[in-house]
Amino acid sequence: MPNRRDFTKLVLAGGAGMLAPRGLWSAAAAAAAPALPQNADDKFDLLIEGGTVIDPSQNLNGLLDVAVKDGKILEVSKNIAKDRALKTVSAKDRIVTPGFIDMHAHCYDGVSIGMNADRYCLGRGVTTMLDAGSAGSATFPNFRKYIINTSTTRIVALVHISPIGTIMFDGGLSNLSWLNPQATAKMATDNKPVVAGIKIQLTKAITGSNDLEALKRALQAAEIARLPLMVHIEDPFSTLPEILKPLRKGDVFTHCYTNHEHGILDGNGKIIPEAREARDRGVIFDPAQGQTHLSFDVAEKCMAQGFLCDTISTDLTIVTVERRVFDLPTMVSKFMAIGVPLDKAIAMVTVNPARVFDFGAQIGTLRRGAEADVSIFELGDGKFEFEDSEGMKRTGQKMLSSKAVVRRGQLFINAV
Ligand SMILES: [Zn+2]
Repeated sequence: MPNRRDFTKLVLAGGAGMLAPRGLWSAAAAAAAPALPQNADDKFDLLIEGGTVIDPSQNLNGLLDVAVKDGKILEVSKNIAKDRALKTVSAKDRIVTPGFIDMHAHCYDGVSIGMNADRYCLGRGVTTMLDAGSAGSATFPNFRKYIINTSTTRIVALVHISPIGTIMFDGGLSNLSWLNPQATAKMATDNKPVVAGIKIQLTKAITGSNDLEALKRALQAAEIARLPLMVHIEDPFSTLPEILKPLRKGDVFTHCYTNHEHGILDGNGKIIPEAREARDRGVIFDPAQGQTHLSFDVAEKCMAQGFLCDTISTDLTIVTVERRVFDLPTMVSKFMAIGVPLDKAIAMVTVNPARVFDFGAQIGTLRRGAEADVSIFELGDGKFEFEDSEGMKRTGQKMLSSKAVVRRGQLFINAV
């Protein structure tokens, strides 16, 4: 079973993520938040008792209880009186974190490559997922009505600049007459805060030679809607410096550790200066493994040069839930296997993504008053083999697996 020593013995191989306040990671175990005044008659709904709470948003890492009332976090402190709880769940020998946030996945279930969010996200410890452009302006109302509104997982979405989203492989991106910034921005604006941004895919097999014009239109939509743009960049027609140049503070480069032409490394394995410049002005770097997007070799070379991505995400689809990616806790374990410490990896799926997009609620933290979205994990010890998108393997000593989640105060126990 894990102990405190396990949490601190790992060595940071990369640089500090730009989203993390300086010094946040220096303390291995911070003091718990002061206990709130307690009235013996004050009942609350749920007590998560005796787990190791890791909440990087508050620099918490220690044996603490979590009290939940009316769908919100009431208190995180030591030894909360059990008789005040209407229901108690033991988290002994478990890790308790803010509900995980997957910043890149696809859940248009039944359409193209969409997976089922409640099965593969909520059921795996992910209380919030960002659907990365499965729907565009023509398809979003259907996606919202039949998927977002009927799921227990909190689903926040990006509207694709193509009106049909990713229903078809090329999504219509090769046809510029389809790309309408005004219609895209209107659909996004009308659906805030369920919509948190705009999405475009820049791959030469999808856009052909139109990628910079398509990017310009996606940025226009993002400007009109006053939202961030997530840009899928993998094997693009144009060079990476040309693509990064117009990206703004808060825009997201997803698939940043891909090993294809026009990637983040030059021919000598050095990070291109334009990537550092983009990071310096606030562009977010997200790995999103998917089928073809993550190279351990590229990730390790970047981390060795102090360039760790800001978030960890899956690009989960019906294909990747079965192959190499599986779920977000596996991706967190995978990044631990290549040198990211547990606390930092948890920040990359909680407080960091919560700062990138407006999810319409206070999530990614266990602060008092935040949404009671909580994940309870087992941290297994052993030898675990992980694969990147090229089939390269790394072995890790830790594996997170979901045991239970709390979503807006409601407890779901994972039976498997
Ligand atoms: Zn994707």
